Amino acid sequence: MSEAACKLFQEALEMHSLELMRQVPKSDLHNHVGRGGSIQYISQWAGVEIKPAAEPFASLAEMQKWFEENIKSVFPDGNGYLKRVEAAFVQAQYDKIEVLAMSYGLDEIDHLGSMADFVKIMDQMHHTFAPEVKFYPELSIGWGSDPDRILSKLDEILSDHWFCSLDLCGKELAAPPERYKKVYQRAKTYGLKLRAHVGEFGTAEDVKRTVELLELDEVHHGIRAAEDARVMNWLADHQIQLNICPTSNVMLKNSPGYDRYQLRDLYDHGIPVTINSDDMLIFNSSVSEEYLKLYQSGLMTVKELDQIRKNGLASYHDQKQRFTVAK
Ligand SMILES: [Zn+2]
Repeated sequence: MSEAACKLFQEALEMHSLELMRQVPKSDLHNHVGRGGSIQYISQWAGVEIKPAAEPFASLAEMQKWFEENIKSVFPDGNGYLKRVEAAFVQAQYDKIEVLAMSYGLDEIDHLGSMADFVKIMDQMHHTFAPEVKFYPELSIGWGSDPDRILSKLDEILSDHWFCSLDLCGKELAAPPERYKKVYQRAKTYGLKLRAHVGEFGTAEDVKRTVELLELDEVHHGIRAAEDARVMNWLADHQIQLNICPTSNVMLKNSPGYDRYQLRDLYDHGIPVTINSDDMLIFNSSVSEEYLKLYQSGLMTVKELDQIRKNGLASYHDQKQRFTVAK
């Protein structure tokens, strides 16, 4: 990892410079593609002023309502899916995201026709708008969705090895994790990295149980693990990485604030963590801004944040080898 990048990162933090931070190589491993762009980009394209949400959301439902009313509504078709995906790639390139994992739902594949059509469009977008970004697409299924329906489609979706990881998202633990065991086992045979949204709203024990049951490699969020030292030690012992999203957690009231963010405890217990954007079109905070906020709040030192940055950049080294073999 380059010395120059570490120096630039330190300078950016100490000078509180967003401009410098944007030049530092970073990763974004927790990013829902249709909500991954910047409000400004969509606003300029649509010629409409969009005001970012000023107050935290009371629930995921309220957040979704804000998204429908303030973002989707500016598009002539009331959706603007492809423009929103374009915005996410543009943002990654602009923010110097070198390693990018973005997640897609099954309905997004269906929306564009076949898997072949979908891949063609996404690869084109990647090469056009984010040519310098290493892109690792993630397949995201909904907590509460029907596992048999997913299993019936999974081989067709995974057989060309386009997707690199699997995720469960939406209403956390809407169904028991064991319901998705077969889906995760099948994905594992394709060499996918296994992740799930858990420990965002739930408990520390939910995190441990879901990791064990689904044999997760990483957890999206997982911040509630900070409520139980035993679970934190267990995650550290097994080196389960948490891909956390500070502003998302603050805006959904899952964290008391940046200066008391659960990241401090998780890091101190030796759990590998990364910093990510989640839904930038809603939370209005880039990965660069997340690093600056964590430093300015006094929560973490330059050295600690740089370690976290490097965790993210190193995230896919192992998997690259797995993929070469799988193909
Ligand atoms: Zn998420």
